[in-house]
Amino acid sequence: MKGLSTVMKKKKRIVIALGGNALGNTLPEQMKAVKITAKAIADLVEEGCEVVVAHGNGPQVGMVNNAMIALTHEDEHQPNTPLSVCVAMSQAYIGYDLQNALREELLDRGITELPVATMITQVRVDENDPAFQAPSKPIGKFVSQEQAKMMKEKFHYIMKEDSGRGYRRVVASPKPVEIIEINTIRTMVNSGDLVIACGGGGIPVIRQGNHLKGASAVIDKDFASCLMAKELDADFLIILTAVEQVALNFGKPNETWLKQVSLKEAEEYIRQGHFAPGSMLPKVQAAVDFAGSKPGRKALITLLEKSRDAIQGKTGTMFSM
Ligand code: ADP
Ligand code: MG
Repeated sequence: MKGLSTVMKKKKRIVIALGGNALGNTLPEQMKAVKITAKAIADLVEEGCEVVVAHGNGPQVGMVNNAMIALTHEDEHQPNTPLSVCVAMSQAYIGYDLQNALREELLDRGITELPVATMITQVRVDENDPAFQAPSKPIGKFVSQEQAKMMKEKFHYIMKEDSGRGYRRVVASPKPVEIIEINTIRTMVNSGDLVIACGGGGIPVIRQGNHLKGASAVIDKDFASCLMAKELDADFLIILTAVEQVALNFGKPNETWLKQVSLKEAEEYIRQGHFAPGSMLPKVQAAVDFAGSKPGRKALITLLEKSRDAIQGKTGTMFSM
């Protein structure tokens, strides 16, 4: 396939979704990881793309949640912090590290006129989403049975035993319906800024008249990025993760790496169960959704460090109509 960049006339608009490996698990890890992530993003800018960044927040929101629980032990007058507020805190923290690293990387490459900014983003979910009836997404650290019992009683958390490793809080993962700040994001992107938005899938909110109530949930960043890419009329959705390509029979002796996938093929592979729920499945579903939403739109799943090679058509798994 001919490289996308060589056939480009108008700037291609790309929404990238950063996975866990782009940010690491601890404060020092994140500070190191964002430097590599900033290089990958700057590569896309140098390829002549208009880049919008979304990202996950699994470890970070768990960390904030645990820190806020510790505060309630320290000071009995402090109520526990709602999960929606923890997501907001994680957006600001990750946005800060990304803004800082991106600014420096762009300046190091002589790109001096590209402002970088993070948009705190609320994403509306439907209170009747069936996900609220079946919380399944584990967050935060593993705790003992006694601690789990205490957290159930004190905070009304739903705690589940996780494959012999202890108990973890599980929360609902509803589908994103509407990005509340989309008009502001669009204005910033249209004026040429490099925007970071929909962090951690967005702060989940439920509409109650004019009020948006924070929901005790986390939205999958792969689905939120897909919605944002559609809303911004992007040309590409690029999901950057820990594997260079998507595989059939992943991890088995007959593993086969996929280069080009049509939507029909992808639906068939999903049906055959090739993609793990909670990891690769939402990515493939988001890729299929975006690529099928308008002619010309394409989605790519690849390794963070290979993003430049992938948009040149050298690697990654490309989904198109
Ligand atoms: P992220 O933090 O980027 O969302 P995840 O861990 O949620 O990353 O999902 C990516 C992981 O999905 C890969 O690292 C790989 O271990 C796993 N995976 C599951 N099924 C497949 C598949 N069919 N092909 C490739 N990777 C797969
Ligand atoms: Mg994931």
